[in-house]
Amino acid sequence: MTMMSDADIDEFLQGHHYGLFKPHIYERGHAYYDAGRVGEPEPIAQDLWHAVVRGGDDYQVDVRLHRGRVVSAACSCPYARRAAYCKHAAAVLIAMTELLRRQRDRERGIDPAFPNDASFAVRWYARNQFSSFPRLSDDDWRAVKHILETLYEFPDLEKLFRRMTLGLLGGSDPDEHHGRWTPLNTEPSTMTLTQQLNEAARRKRHKRRDCDSSLANMRLLVPGFGTTQLNELPHTWMTILEAAYEHLHDAEGLRRLYSYYILIAQTDPEAVYVERLRAVSGDHWAEDRDEIIRLRGKCHRICGMSPINPAFERLVREERLPKDAFDYCRQVGGAILSIRMLDVIAQDPELLEQTMQRLRTMLRDPDSDIYSVNDGPSAERVGHWIRRIDTAAGYEEARALAEHIAGMFPRREKLRAALEDYVPKTDTFPELDDDDWDDWDDGDDDGCDDSEIIFYDDGGALPPRDDDVEYDSDEPGEGSDDDE
Ligand SMILES: [Zn+2]
Repeated sequence: MTMMSDADIDEFLQGHHYGLFKPHIYERGHAYYDAGRVGEPEPIAQDLWHAVVRGGDDYQVDVRLHRGRVVSAACSCPYARRAAYCKHAAAVLIAMTELLRRQRDRERGIDPAFPNDASFAVRWYARNQFSSFPRLSDDDWRAVKHILETLYEFPDLEKLFRRMTLGLLGGSDPDEHHGRWTPLNTEPSTMTLTQQLNEAARRKRHKRRDCDSSLANMRLLVPGFGTTQLNELPHTWMTILEAAYEHLHDAEGLRRLYSYYILIAQTDPEAVYVERLRAVSGDHWAEDRDEIIRLRGKCHRICGMSPINPAFERLVREERLPKDAFDYCRQVGGAILSIRMLDVIAQDPELLEQTMQRLRTMLRDPDSDIYSVNDGPSAERVGHWIRRIDTAAGYEEARALAEHIAGMFPRREKLRAALEDYVPKTDTFPELDDDDWDDWDDGDDDGCDDSEIIFYDDGGALPPRDDDVEYDSDEPGEGSDDDE
């Protein structure tokens, strides 16, 4: 099926291609893969593979092999014009590795290994915390499992998730979530959970120094106890419970825990649990998937709002569930989010039409926040959206919208350039030349495809609005990078 010989597959799985990427680019590629943004790679000819990577735009990636080694890669993103080995190519190579490894294991009759990520993290953590860490027996692990399941009231996932959601929404520290769940802030964070916890801990330390002094007393009682070290476990205590499940080969426990991780996910890297749950669920996959959808819907009804959840997005996308994608977008509340999920929603023509009505209203409104900033990245973003609408709703729809937008802002050159696939060029507006690309994509930011839109909601700080009366043609530093 893959048109690759066993020897070529073995050679490929050696992973020589890691060396082709700058480490930070490879890492970003891995985050894309974890977030489920890579369509299944397909061999389209002898030694030629193709895959689509979804960012803010869909990027087409081709990888050419020779005897199992990567000889070249091509991607349709702007960064790849200058350096072939972009993060999208990295993401596709990781997806190919996983695909070929699974296929080879199946052929050889090897069961996928039982997970041991949490055990690894806990072992590492425990070694740092205790002077000695002897091997724990099965009974020890059963005790750990019993204690933590009791504390978390497992197996009542619903109760736990509800408490967690209510706790976050009505939380004691509203500042913590300010700006994160505003309806239009629809891009998931690319920070890992651990990074977020550390950041929250850092902010707390700055705010409340008295907290430190009480913990200092604790350090006297418990030698070597550090205040933030539990944060080194991705889900703190739950990672210890996860390690217990791993050790005891308790698939049912892991299914419950992974389902919970998916329900509470807020960052891209956490979407990896969809893949993990699928692997550990086996025959129970459909049951687990439906339970996650049911619980998310139920909690939304109780709390009245839902945060962005990249893991849930991955689930409805990979399972091709237009109705659930539509409900999710409506509940989370951003028309912009619907653009990201449009390919899934488009499978149901009626839901697509309803979504398009909202999008038309937003895109045709010259006062919409999406046009408040007139710079390269903002223009490109609109261009990405129109291309997505083209893919999902057809060329005519995309062209009509693009013409309308170009008509609203005739003096925004960058916007026109971003829409030029749909709106005929006129001589008055010069083409965007190659140098301009350098301004906004240097390959190591996410500016080209999944950057956040900045909304100025603090009243006083509105940027000067371009009302197309005068266009200042030499704005220095325009279209700069999206690094925070
Ligand atoms: Zn690329």
